[in-house]
Amino acid sequence: MYEKELAVVDRNAARINSISDKIWDLAELPYCEYESSALLQSELEKEGFKITRNVADIPTAFTATYGSGSPKMGILAEFDALPDLSQEANVTEPRPRAGTNNGHGCGHHLFAGGSFGAALAVKAHIDATGKGSVTLFGCPAEEGGAGKVFMARKHVFNDTDAIVSWHPEKMYMPRTRPSLANIMVDYAFKGLAAHAGGSPQKGRSALDAVTLMNVGANFLREHMDLTSRIHYAVIDTGGEAPNIVQSHAKVRYLIRAVTSEDVRILRERVDRIAQGAAMMTDTEVTATVLTAYSNLITIPTLQQTAYEMMKDIPVPVPTEDELAFGRALRETMPLTAEEKKDSVYATEVLVPAPPKPHGGSTDTSDVSWNCPTLQLHIGTWVKGTPGHSWQMVAQGKSSYAHKATVYASKAVAATIMRVMDEPERLAKIKAEHAERAVGGYVCPIPDDIQPPIPERK
Ligand SMILES: [Zn+2]
Repeated sequence: MYEKELAVVDRNAARINSISDKIWDLAELPYCEYESSALLQSELEKEGFKITRNVADIPTAFTATYGSGSPKMGILAEFDALPDLSQEANVTEPRPRAGTNNGHGCGHHLFAGGSFGAALAVKAHIDATGKGSVTLFGCPAEEGGAGKVFMARKHVFNDTDAIVSWHPEKMYMPRTRPSLANIMVDYAFKGLAAHAGGSPQKGRSALDAVTLMNVGANFLREHMDLTSRIHYAVIDTGGEAPNIVQSHAKVRYLIRAVTSEDVRILRERVDRIAQGAAMMTDTEVTATVLTAYSNLITIPTLQQTAYEMMKDIPVPVPTEDELAFGRALRETMPLTAEEKKDSVYATEVLVPAPPKPHGGSTDTSDVSWNCPTLQLHIGTWVKGTPGHSWQMVAQGKSSYAHKATVYASKAVAATIMRVMDEPERLAKIKAEHAERAVGGYVCPIPDDIQPPIPERK
């Protein structure tokens, strides 16, 4: 099916991979993806896509639309990198790359290139049928910045019939895994400085408060849902001098649970622990929300459609060189006995597995509350590669990752074209979404919280 459209992807393979490679080179951090975003925009503009910039008042967010009218289909693209993951490409040892501290440790550069390729194929389909439209959503700051949540708060995704996205993975399969809702809150304690030896009775320690809060939170763990999670990082210890009572200290909490409502209830309990710690130490505490994500809604008919399309697209076959590179990389990874026996790369499209609980969160969830959304797992990585690792950055420009990205373009495009062509299928998808998005979307980030966009350098 869709041979002509998928041939467009093959003809543009070099261009798709060169976009990914350039974004890998740029390795721009969340909300700072100025050049990566501009590159995607200009390539899409050359193809006749209409660009809207500065979407949701985020300088690196954009939309690119081709065609008009219904069905209105969407594709997501990400392009942000991670800090402290500088690494050279195509080597099998940790070797930081000169000139940058950042690296694409989650493959969002491939995500950008692959989604661009998918947009080209869908454009060819719209040209052939004269029907419908496709929008590529340029989504910044997935890595902890909640870019899509801020976009969802401004209703960017509401007007779309269905969205197909993808993410680099170790397998080929439509995603069935749900994700947890979360909230990130800073608890800042204010105390009173004093000579820790000479006049400790005059001091009130903010660091003591942080310590007691963490003890309280650790006791809370036994009395919360098994599926909930609490993580923290002390981000201000109040200074380096042990002979001064710490007058300030700050701890960042990430609280996760199955739904946003569960997160709200758990967060209230953590708030009370913070207040208790402040009371015990005669300090004051203020809580500031940084970001929050909803839980992911998954749509069975979209998963099934994608599976049917994916199993007809040949999965890339690694060359001997690619296998040798993959094997050498695997020598550097802590593999389980089972992983050691497994193939180096994924070899087939997997039947969508029944959803298992999962401890992570994604800002694609907030898209999924506004419009039926599917994410495809595409096997760009050597199996066993840890996420956000130097090994992942090192594979980011590998020839196998390039081939898998071209596969991603085809898989996303084929799924979208099938949905566009079959109104009954789309109606079923929308009905499944309506059933699951009970109560409608409530953005979990309070209105007065703005995206944490750093000053442009
Ligand atoms: Zn990612």
